[in-house]
Amino acid sequence: MTPEINISLKSLHSFASKEITQFFTKLKNKQDIVDACTWSKNNQKPLLVIGSGSNILFTKNFEGLVAKMELMGIRKLEETASEVILEVGAGENWHHFVSYCVQKGWGGIENLSLIPGTVGASPIQNIGAYGAEVQDCIKTIHAFDTTNNEWVNLNNKECAFGYRTSLFKQTKHRYIIAQVQFVLQKQPILKTDYGAIREVLHDKGIKNPSLETISNAIVQIRSQKLPDPKVLGNAGSFFKNPTLPIEKYNELKDLFPNIIAYPISDTEYKIAAGWLIEACGWKGARKGNVGCFEKQALVIVSYGIVSGKEVFDFSEEIIQSVQAKFGITLEREVNIF
Ligand code: FAD
Ligand code: NAP
Repeated sequence: MTPEINISLKSLHSFASKEITQFFTKLKNKQDIVDACTWSKNNQKPLLVIGSGSNILFTKNFEGLVAKMELMGIRKLEETASEVILEVGAGENWHHFVSYCVQKGWGGIENLSLIPGTVGASPIQNIGAYGAEVQDCIKTIHAFDTTNNEWVNLNNKECAFGYRTSLFKQTKHRYIIAQVQFVLQKQPILKTDYGAIREVLHDKGIKNPSLETISNAIVQIRSQKLPDPKVLGNAGSFFKNPTLPIEKYNELKDLFPNIIAYPISDTEYKIAAGWLIEACGWKGARKGNVGCFEKQALVIVSYGIVSGKEVFDFSEEIIQSVQAKFGITLEREVNIF
């Protein structure tokens, strides 16, 4: 393997900030993955595998090897009267894969339509939207374990999925995901609970939605509400929604009756981080070429050429002001390097 040297990261991640990587390569098959690991160990340089870079912020130049996942392929392994099992290459585009399944009438991931990124990154933070999480459709993951230098198959339980997290996020870079096996349903139960979906279906007079109408509704909602990374650099929600014990939530509710929160168990509430940030006056605010998106405060955007450090510093100011007003420490969802 001979990596390219001193490559700009601008076109390789959705913040499009101006850092560079010392070394760069592409991973088109399983041997490329093994070769990249061997190269990284032999040259004592850290290895960072990326998909389409839509959940990454580089705060400095990367002094190692960035390897872009491009292992492709969608293969049907099994089909019964009720479900289908597919094996999908980590480099496949996530939304293309969702559209392919919706077209075939296989349900489970339609609420995750239009999430940017690759199939291989989808388990990393257990992507979720509109009441669905990818963990509900994952059967196994085929990955290279860089600690033991061996290929492993991890079942759903072993992936330790949680709210926007997983084994892969917790063990930072130990596993390189090559393929994901999905189980999809031929008679799916559709999830239409989120207000925005209900509104679109209601406006269109749709009482019995199909997979396609749900997917189209989500594409419509997302296109109207979220910034297109090709126009404004961003990485989606910059922060996670914090969870609080019910007692702490009740105290806040007394002080801030309009707070937006949802129960997630008998003892905990999930607080809408976007509401906290907006309540601190950040929505639409801008400093230089970095800002808080005017339609959704949870998204930090870049309006021109920026350094990742400027974005990081802006996010730090948001964290400080939310901490000062609500006593809640926001955690970044975006992966910082
Ligand atoms: P990258 O950003 O390239 O990588 C993310 C992390 O995964 C990095 O740590 C990287 O090292 C690691 N990684 C990537 N591929 C592999 C692999 N094959 N093996 C091992 N590690 C790997 N997320 C949601 O959950 N829900 C949303 O609704 C949502 N909406 C978004 C909207 C916008 C406009 C944007 C820009 C982002 C949004 N995101 C959302 C975040 C993002 O789309 C997801 O996290 C997505 O899964 C990232 O995919 P990627 O290929 O771009 O990963
Ligand atoms: P929204 O509908 O304005 O809702 C704000 C928050 O409230 C969301 O974060 C959501 O939590 C929560 N919520 C709303 N309705 C809920 C319900 N019925 N039950 C439980 N929780 C509820 O959110 P939005 O910003 O427009 O995003 C819509 C969806 O897309 C959300 O699911 C969001 O996570 C997802 N999204 C994620 C990213 C990302 O980068 N991670 C970026 C854009 C959009 P959840 O976030 O837990 O769903």
